[in-house]
Amino acid sequence: MPTGAKLRNRLTLWSFILLLLFLGAGGFFCYYELQLETLKNLDGQLLSIARNFAYDYREVDPATATSKDFCQNFNRQVIFQTSEQAVTLFSLQGVPLCRSRQPLSQQLSLGPEAEAHSASGKAYFESINIGQNEQIRRLTFPIIGNNQVSFHLQLGHSLAALNAGLTHYKLILIAAGLAAAGSLALCQWLFLGLFTGPIKQIAQKMDMTSEENLNQLFAPPTLTGKEIEKLANSYNRMAERIGGYLQRSRQFATDVTHELRTPLTILRGETEIGLRGEKSAEDLRQVLNSNLEEISRMGHLVDDLLMLSKSELGEIPLKMEALNLNELLEELFFQGKIIAAPKQITVNLQAPKQKVSLFADANRIRQVFLNLLTNSIKYTPEGGTVTIDWSLQGEMARIIFIDTGIGIDYEHQQHIFDRFYRINKTGNRNDGGSGLGLAIAKWLVEAHGGNVMVCSTPGQGSSFAITLPLTPKPDGSAIPPSPV
Ligand code: ADP
Repeated sequence: MPTGAKLRNRLTLWSFILLLLFLGAGGFFCYYELQLETLKNLDGQLLSIARNFAYDYREVDPATATSKDFCQNFNRQVIFQTSEQAVTLFSLQGVPLCRSRQPLSQQLSLGPEAEAHSASGKAYFESINIGQNEQIRRLTFPIIGNNQVSFHLQLGHSLAALNAGLTHYKLILIAAGLAAAGSLALCQWLFLGLFTGPIKQIAQKMDMTSEENLNQLFAPPTLTGKEIEKLANSYNRMAERIGGYLQRSRQFATDVTHELRTPLTILRGETEIGLRGEKSAEDLRQVLNSNLEEISRMGHLVDDLLMLSKSELGEIPLKMEALNLNELLEELFFQGKIIAAPKQITVNLQAPKQKVSLFADANRIRQVFLNLLTNSIKYTPEGGTVTIDWSLQGEMARIIFIDTGIGIDYEHQQHIFDRFYRINKTGNRNDGGSGLGLAIAKWLVEAHGGNVMVCSTPGQGSSFAITLPLTPKPDGSAIPPSPV
């Protein structure tokens, strides 16, 4: 069968061949046993006839055995039921003395081996061919009188009927074997249809799957067993995942377009105003400054987008090295104080005495901390407090940015790590926020084997907690997972 043939047909053919082999071996064994048993029965019959003759002729003097009367008496004693049996009496020297009347008796002759066995007082059986496809079974038996062999008696029985019976039996076995293997293979073929049918349906469903019908799930076929159900469910889960990816990437494209369109519209509007009518040098400088701000905002946005898309492709290698956490957070603390000064926000650092070093990409981790710190300052009103608190928790360092700011509603807390998610769209935009900062921070922290969590009470403040492992991952690298 060609390798491309249907699995159902291939399996059926293989099981048919295997069944034939098993049944053939079993049939051969049965046939062989039957043949042995039948021959054993026949030998038993011949032996019992031979023993009767031997008993009757035990006292006959070999010297008197040559007379005509002797042979007539001998023949009177031979009362075989069928012509398939015959008997011949041989002298001790192997000369045939009397043959029974059946034509088969002519086939009885004393071979050297038979004669030797009989001469030593033992019975000897043999099967011999006496023509094309014709066989006889011969028994050579010693007649013993006065403790010595006086005659050799030979009995013959045609095997024609017996062989015909065995051939008949053989044909029945072959026919039964073929019928059994054939019907079992047919049943199997029908049963396999129960499995291959749904597999075909799933394949068809996959072929027809497109972006539009991805959400039409496949109803798992019933009565087909757990495996097919599992396959159908796996397909459904895969379709759901792909649907999710597509939905997110569509959303991403829409968000990007929207984010870029806004600064472009502002740029265009301001440029048009600048071009309209006579403008003083000061007015023009203002327009150019405002344009420059928009351009740098777009530049940041494009950088962030580039970073996210590279992270999605796993193209941002992390430069893992020993990083002194105490130094980094102190540096940040001073930077934070400078940023917070215009709003009179107090910045605190709560740190343990011990020196701790992480194994991380210093620039990326600084970027994450700075983002959380500037957010804390940005969303805390004047006169508030921002605290950087860090501690060791087993094999992890835990860094928390606590502020007394505006806080985040519970419904928003679940989404602030999503790309482009901003609570107050206009307000944040004016602050230069794009809604990408936390998405990037989350991805970077997770790429280092850590995690980031938020805890916030609206009106009271927020805490952003980061945990980072002190030791590298077993393979010594940080594998960036897919970002949000
Ligand atoms: P953005 O660049 O707009 O700040 P982020 O991804 O950093 O974007 O933050 C997403 C949103 O989460 C922000 O728009 C803001 O509404 C909210 N947010 C982040 N940090 C804080 C904080 N410390 N306090 C209150 N709101 C916050």
